[in-house]
Amino acid sequence: MRILIANDDGYLAPGIAALVQACQGLGEIDVIAPEQNASGTSNSLTLNRPLSVHEARGEPVNGFRFVTGTPSDSVHIALTGLLPQRPDLVLSGINQGANMGDDTLYSGTVAAAMEGYLFGIPAIAFSQTEKGWAHLDAAARTARRVVESVLASVAQRAPGQPAWLLNVNIPNRPDADQLPWAVTRLGRRHASEPVIRQISPRGEPVYWIGPAGDAREAGEGTDFHAVAHGQVSITPLQVDLTDHAALPDWRTRLGG
Ligand code: MN
Repeated sequence: MRILIANDDGYLAPGIAALVQACQGLGEIDVIAPEQNASGTSNSLTLNRPLSVHEARGEPVNGFRFVTGTPSDSVHIALTGLLPQRPDLVLSGINQGANMGDDTLYSGTVAAAMEGYLFGIPAIAFSQTEKGWAHLDAAARTARRVVESVLASVAQRAPGQPAWLLNVNIPNRPDADQLPWAVTRLGRRHASEPVIRQISPRGEPVYWIGPAGDAREAGEGTDFHAVAHGQVSITPLQVDLTDHAALPDWRTRLGG
């Protein structure tokens, strides 16, 4: 079993070291992650400059390789030139903060896993639901249990079988690894909070993107509902953005 691990908080973030530690003994692990925090970069690839890869020395990141690019860059170049063999599983995280509902469109954590999925490799994104890394050890134990539960199916996967992508959100609790799991759909968030306008030291207006909105669709069956009720949320994701239900209506309206 070969496991590639990436993240979006950067290779020095506590969450990726915890995930690597938790996965010891499950397979041969390669870590290739962004040099800097790249949260919110979604699936962006760096196309306007070359990328460098360096290997970290010293615990807890010894042997981690870091890339001067995005989460998607990291997994992309790992799969297309850096790794001598294709991994069987791609993991991302553990992220600092939730990736639920609309977050998944902006998330670099989900994007790193999605890059593996787009290359036909099963992939899992892990996030803690609150920032601050509280109870990261329990989240890491939870991640290991999730990986262990899919390991047999990954090992037995025939070449060409469709890959899958899971988005896992883990409540920041000391008993996270004892919580029930809920297989969920994505909820929805309200629109983000307004942008924050400030005046720079040079007297010019500058703008900070506001925080994500609160949950709007958080009913039973959603990721928001699960974590609010003390469950680990596991959402299977797909990439097809087509509005299939709207195709007939648009064909009528546009004659296409
Ligand atoms: Mn992040």
